[in-house]
Amino acid sequence: MQNLFRKLPKVDILMNNKELSSIKDKLSYNAFYELVTKEIQIFRDKIKSGLITDFTTDDVIKCTLNSAKKYDRNNLKKIINGTGVIIHTNLGRSIINKRIFNRVSEIATSYNNLEYQLSTGKRGNRNSHVEAILCKLTGAEGALVVNNNAAAVVICLNEFAKGGNSIVSRGELVEIGGSFRIPEIMELSGAQLKEVGTTNKTHIQDYEKAIDENTALILKVHTSNFKILGFTESVENKEIASLGKKKNILTMEDLGSGVLVDFSKYGVTKEPTVQESIASGIDIVTISGDKLLGGPQCGIILGKKELIERLKKNPYLRAFRVDKLVLSTLEMTLDLYLDEREAIKEIPTLRMITEKSENVLEKANKLYEALLEIGIKTTIAKTRAKIGGGSMPEETVPSYAIRFQGNPETLEKFFREGDINIIGRIHENNFIIDMKTIFNEDIPVIVEKAKLLKELV
Ligand SMILES: *Cc1c(COP(=O)(O)O)cnc(C)c1O
Repeated sequence: MQNLFRKLPKVDILMNNKELSSIKDKLSYNAFYELVTKEIQIFRDKIKSGLITDFTTDDVIKCTLNSAKKYDRNNLKKIINGTGVIIHTNLGRSIINKRIFNRVSEIATSYNNLEYQLSTGKRGNRNSHVEAILCKLTGAEGALVVNNNAAAVVICLNEFAKGGNSIVSRGELVEIGGSFRIPEIMELSGAQLKEVGTTNKTHIQDYEKAIDENTALILKVHTSNFKILGFTESVENKEIASLGKKKNILTMEDLGSGVLVDFSKYGVTKEPTVQESIASGIDIVTISGDKLLGGPQCGIILGKKELIERLKKNPYLRAFRVDKLVLSTLEMTLDLYLDEREAIKEIPTLRMITEKSENVLEKANKLYEALLEIGIKTTIAKTRAKIGGGSMPEETVPSYAIRFQGNPETLEKFFREGDINIIGRIHENNFIIDMKTIFNEDIPVIVEKAKLLKELV
């Protein structure tokens, strides 16, 4: 037994072992040290109880590698999106450019000037890091960032409409998802809802007639996740804005997705841009950070200087504020928009939306070939990928998918579960992986997973 104890590797030997270097990269020094000492202790206990009569250092290394696997088992983890839905709320919405996130990690893992003015050595304002660039990009006089667009709407209604009524078209009383319903948000903010018009038609006279001495705000809501087709009419921003000016009433638009580029230039259906909303004269515009803008989760409020200054004093702001991770990611994402070509190339959401279908076909061919090489025969199907995210309803872009043979439900479950999680979709009774939302580096991982498929069938 003494001999066996002597055979136990020293902690530093294990910590410098080459085979364990992959874990070393993943864990902090302390966590790695703890893992290694624990593993040695397990072997010591086994020797003591006579459970093992011999072992090698290699055995200890193998067991350490195995124990390290639990560090890959976090609940929230990377998955591969084969659904073809670009902005998928359940799969994390917009994803962040890797180079940006590396720079963010430097800020997040060190102290930073989040609320500190380097020029004066005094307390600063966290919003100041992004306000100027937001104004420059959108044409607004002031800007404020909060936790998400829902929070943006709540704080605006609370500040500008509390105690009064807000006029909203019946065609725009939407539910965005979860429990974000305009009437309920209105109530929460202390504002009273005054509905005008009908589901399919609202005219400027409807708004004008509804204005009374208690009217605080006219609110427009972008109907981002559904479409009313046929005999419809809604009022343009410009008309709302000039009615507001004439009657001395604030106007606001919950724009939702927040596009900063004109997609029609890239062959995608045009979505009203933030710049156009601001230019129309609407006093306040709110957007999401992680939909078509392609940034981190946040809500952005844009508008007249004095209105933004009022919001900065609203008590809700303390509850809705964002942290250094969000602000630095947002600042770097916005920075790309200073050159639209950069934004299209570097912001994953924009890149996928505008990506040429030949590119997608190329990725499909690559995966097709790689699967064929391991003996799995698939076919390539033409599909339409969705922009999604409650941003552009029904809006799709051309794409290609890998179509598997076999029971679609079994295949869907197989790819979804386990260590590697690939979420595909069932299309015309086949399981498919849509290549629009697949990255080149995902392809070998999909193949790795598909190798196990051969054992299944
Ligand atoms: C998405 C959306 C919201 C909610 O935005 P979050 O950033 O998810 O809070 C609100 N209004 C509209 C019109 C939207 O499209």
